[in-house]
Amino acid sequence: MKIGVLSRNKSLYSTKRLIEAAQQRGHEVEVIDALRCYMNINSEKPEIHIQGRELSHFDAVIPRIGASVTFYGCAVLRQFESMDVYTPNGSVAITRSRDKLRSLQVLSKRGVGMPITGFASKPDDIKDLLTMVGGAPVVIKLLEGTQGIGVVLAETRKAAESVIEAFMGLKANIMVQEYIKEAGGADIRCFVIGDKVIAAMKRQAQEGEFRSNLHRGGSASLIRITPEERKTAVQAAKAMGLGVAGVDLLRSERGPLVMEVNSSPGLEGIESATGKDIAGLIIEYIEKAIQKKTPEKPLPNS
Ligand code: ADP
Ligand code: MG
Repeated sequence: MKIGVLSRNKSLYSTKRLIEAAQQRGHEVEVIDALRCYMNINSEKPEIHIQGRELSHFDAVIPRIGASVTFYGCAVLRQFESMDVYTPNGSVAITRSRDKLRSLQVLSKRGVGMPITGFASKPDDIKDLLTMVGGAPVVIKLLEGTQGIGVVLAETRKAAESVIEAFMGLKANIMVQEYIKEAGGADIRCFVIGDKVIAAMKRQAQEGEFRSNLHRGGSASLIRITPEERKTAVQAAKAMGLGVAGVDLLRSERGPLVMEVNSSPGLEGIESATGKDIAGLIIEYIEKAIQKKTPEKPLPNS
């Protein structure tokens, strides 16, 4: 097969591993920087060019689109889709997963467990918003935050009101969420491929910190997840329409709660925590999907 990896940087761990895994399995691979692609959009023969040459004859593309290039990256992916190139994560599903509000709305509609969550832009009654999510302590999040930045634990109602007012002053959209204390500063990253969780790791926050992000000093370790956690993670990926997803769960008294679903989950943390060849499993999943898409033609007279 000829596989394109939509990535801005060949030397990123995840990109490198996907290249290696595809080559090991006998495929031809090219890394494509979406921002450098330009496209001809027409109904007869849609085309994508890069540096004066046409990108053609790809069987599959693996999108590794960073959050900052979602818009153009998804436009290039959409163009590949209209050229009938297979992708495990479609442009619509990626766009859906990048919008935290929309994602939680989709998940709640499918009955997937999640922390009680309020959304607000300019709430005219902060007290009511807090009551709506069950009162303090609450976790307040800036919608556009990543790596734990812009995620605040407000232990009291007064503190929560001040933080919400401060965020409102920044004209930011915010999420106000029930604090899952019993998670004990840990979350579980489930790596989903198709309808299976193929690896899981626990991320534990540093002493005195509730955010388990590795960028905030959290540490990763191997964990055995329950059948219910497995089911929840697969259900969440499915609801989002993602073939490959990183689903983050909190362990609560009422079962697993989904915090977020990532459409370009990193491979480094999970491969080193579990020792699994996750890049290889992604390539294998794509091989199978393409075999299904193009069934072998029956032999004549058979
Ligand atoms: P980001 O997108 O910046 O990673 P998250 O929503 O994942 O933001 O929050 C960062 C971390 O904070 C999570 O990994 C988790 O450890 C902790 N956390 C977030 N929301 C809650 C919550 N409602 N209850 C308990 N801990 C939480
Ligand atoms: Mg997170």
